Amino acid sequence: MSESIGFIGLGIMGRGMTQNLLNKGHRVMIWNRTPARMDEFVRAGATAADSPADLAARCDVILICVSDTPDVEAVILGENGVLAGVKSGSLVVDHSTISPQATKEMAAKLREKGAAMLDAPVSGGSEGAAKGTLSIMVGGEETGFQRALPVLEAYGKTITHVGPQGAGQMVKLVNQILVVVTELAVCEGLLFAQAGGLDLNKTLDAVKGGAAGSWMLANRGPQMIARDWRPGFTIDLQQKDLRLVLEAADQLGLPLMATGMVFQMYRALQAQGLGSEGNHALVKALEGMSGVEVGK
Ligand code: NAP
Repeated sequence: MSESIGFIGLGIMGRGMTQNLLNKGHRVMIWNRTPARMDEFVRAGATAADSPADLAARCDVILICVSDTPDVEAVILGENGVLAGVKSGSLVVDHSTISPQATKEMAAKLREKGAAMLDAPVSGGSEGAAKGTLSIMVGGEETGFQRALPVLEAYGKTITHVGPQGAGQMVKLVNQILVVVTELAVCEGLLFAQAGGLDLNKTLDAVKGGAAGSWMLANRGPQMIARDWRPGFTIDLQQKDLRLVLEAADQLGLPLMATGMVFQMYRALQAQGLGSEGNHALVKALEGMSGVEVGK
């Protein structure tokens, strides 16, 4: 508990993670681009920094959870970024889902300043961040992993060192392939049940404990039935993750049929102005094609 911890990015995920750090008694400094989002955490005992550079100059372990690759680059490499303030011997842990290649490049720049970096993307949604039950897939050196572990345990339940720098991001992309293809199956299943005149809640209860059960079915199925599109994870961010998957697959020369299809369905929903809805609004793309609406 002696290391001073800084958290950058108090979005849907960062808020829950920061709250769990405070609950576990860690000393936490925070920075968020929109300053008003820091207020509730300052009231809860955190200290607000003036910039990522200011935070990095005053913390030993710097945690980041922002949106996309350019955003992590802005926070680390930009004006008043982490790189401008980081102390030699510090550890930067990036929880954002971003390009595996960009991660390696930023880690190299931090290394020149004597700081280590781990890529540590997370899975488990806003619920996992709030409950402290996230899965965290970590890429980087073993020494950095061991050092980060007591911090990550504040909000992570399954914390796995999966390989060298960039491997955490690659495993997260595997995770996203599994998530969206499962999600597509949940959408098709519920649409079929609706078209067949079944009671959707009874259908869900009947199948969720068997071989067809999944986190997606249990958590997002009821939301689809209730037509509750509030985001745990937005269409915009999921589409971003699939772009990262397809870019990496392209570099590997690998065809990914189902993932490519879901990517295009999200594009269509974004074009309809639905990018800020929860990613389970994927079902709306199928509804548009079939004229059947789930839960109606
Ligand atoms: P979010 O609610 O949209 O929050 C994004 C955060 O990043 C906000 O604090 C935002 O600051 C900050 N930010 C964005 N661009 C920035 C920039 N250029 N400079 C500085 N700060 C910037 O997103 P989220 O759902 O927490 O997701 C964060 C990351 O976790 C993403 O990489 C996402 O893919 C990943 N993730 C999310 C989930 C999930 O279920 N939500 C699950 C697993 C992984 P402002 O407050 O100023 O906008």
